[in-house]
Amino acid sequence: VKPVIALHGGAGAMRGITPQGAKRYKAGLERALAAGYALLEAGGASLDAVAAAVVELEDDPLFNAGRGAAYTADARHELDAAIMDGATLRAGGVAAVSRIRNPVLAARAVMEHSPHVLLAGRGAEVFARKHGIVFAPSSYFHAAKRFAAPRKGTVGAVALDAQGNLAAATSTGGHTGKLPGRVGDSPIVGAGTYADNATCAVSGTGLGEAFIRVALAHEVSARMRLAGEPLARAAAAALAQVSRIGGDGGLVAVDRRGNIAMPFNSRGMFRACIGRGGARVVAIYR
Ligand code: ASP
Repeated sequence: VKPVIALHGGAGAMRGITPQGAKRYKAGLERALAAGYALLEAGGASLDAVAAAVVELEDDPLFNAGRGAAYTADARHELDAAIMDGATLRAGGVAAVSRIRNPVLAARAVMEHSPHVLLAGRGAEVFARKHGIVFAPSSYFHAAKRFAAPRKGTVGAVALDAQGNLAAATSTGGHTGKLPGRVGDSPIVGAGTYADNATCAVSGTGLGEAFIRVALAHEVSARMRLAGEPLARAAAAALAQVSRIGGDGGLVAVDRRGNIAMPFNSRGMFRACIGRGGARVVAIYR
């Protein structure tokens, strides 16, 4: 099997992005793509590749995840992330954690070292610390202050490895001004993140409440499994459910044959992929 990776850095109206800004966003996407694909090319697991790509995007202050996370209504940061292994349907997530540098790594620790799927708030932080996850002072996240515009967006990656295994990971700061305690779709398995070797791997970005209500990521998988729809049609149909209830956003998805879909209903979505044939796409607008 030829490895494949697709990732996103959030969807939205893309207001105020200058041509220079667009270049920097694309460079960030390229770095994440390279980090994930290098592992896949070396025969590595899709789980490692999606984690590596998301870590790269979490560390980049341009994107609303990890370092660049948005501020809550009470001017703090509450981060959500999840990871899922399509081979075993194992999954892990953290919700509303404040000082974890790379929430996707905490999500992976939940998956690998706990009997649970989703840990929230203080309990998640205590667990992460116990498992050697790196913390950062709150000043680390304040890099986002340089970007005055209200933040939304999310980062995520999906991959198919040479063994035929699918994986997905998603990480976000939510959106500027969200209520303390609000949890979005990203850390919720089946909403913003899903992977099943029998169908596909999905990572979403957009109005989290809408993604939760339509169980977006699982909807893509279910359409393939139950209705026999090809990936592109399943992804478009699932996203249409989000549109129907007034939600905006998009998703990246890859199936077990290495097909890629990256639909969005907003003006743009930061996205990138390397397909079966090795062709690379890095794009923002339609
Ligand atoms: N889906 C994210 C959330 O609701 C935000 C986004 O992707 O724009 O937390």
